[in-house]
Amino acid sequence: MNIILLAPPAAGKGTQAALIVSKYHMKHISTGELLRKSLKQDDDISKEIKQIMNSGKLVSDEIILQLIEKELESAEEGVVLDGFPRNRVQAIEYEELLQRLGQKLDAVLYLSIPEEVAKARIIGRRTCPTCGKIYNMQMEEMTEELCGSCHTSLISREDDNEETFDLRYETYMRETSPLISFYQEKGLLKEIDASLKTEEVFKRIELILNEV
Ligand code: ADP
Repeated sequence: MNIILLAPPAAGKGTQAALIVSKYHMKHISTGELLRKSLKQDDDISKEIKQIMNSGKLVSDEIILQLIEKELESAEEGVVLDGFPRNRVQAIEYEELLQRLGQKLDAVLYLSIPEEVAKARIIGRRTCPTCGKIYNMQMEEMTEELCGSCHTSLISREDDNEETFDLRYETYMRETSPLISFYQEKGLLKEIDASLKTEEVFKRIELILNEV
């Protein structure tokens, strides 16, 4: 089973992707995570990508498609794509890539959420730099900023501030939201209310995936 998670920034794609892969044994491919991991070096290309991400714009399709192709080739199980495709070019390239690999896309889960609710979520978002687990300080009423799984100190993502959120949201509306009708026309789109609690959103996802 191959699925795409489509949503505005901070709707909960990463959190739901982690729940999906643990239940359905699929591979989680997050282009945002792959980019953040590749930015540990201090070379010119890393600096350039970091600057693009912190300005809320999209990294070039060429870089993203190279990352995706490598990940897909090594995936023996189905994949959950989180943060890709993010525009029409990427969606069409992904179709061609799947065709070459003799695979198909099974569903696109569209996590819908009002802009203000998503914006409020980024302020409390923390990530574990070691295992990648995502937390929300407000929703989980946490007192210590430590990862519950590996006890590393949690960090805030550099692009999780109100100003960058506004820019990321603008980019989403302009470049990514047209993919909603793109996949609707193909009969693949399933809309889920992502303003609900994490467990409620996941229950709805399970109902959909059990039918796919
Ligand atoms: P979000 O929480 O906003 O969904 P991500 O972690 O998915 O954030 O992505 C962070 C940033 O990485 C994006 O704002 C963008 O600059 C870059 N990025 C991630 N995926 C893609 C993609 N498919 N195409 C271009 N840029 C991407």
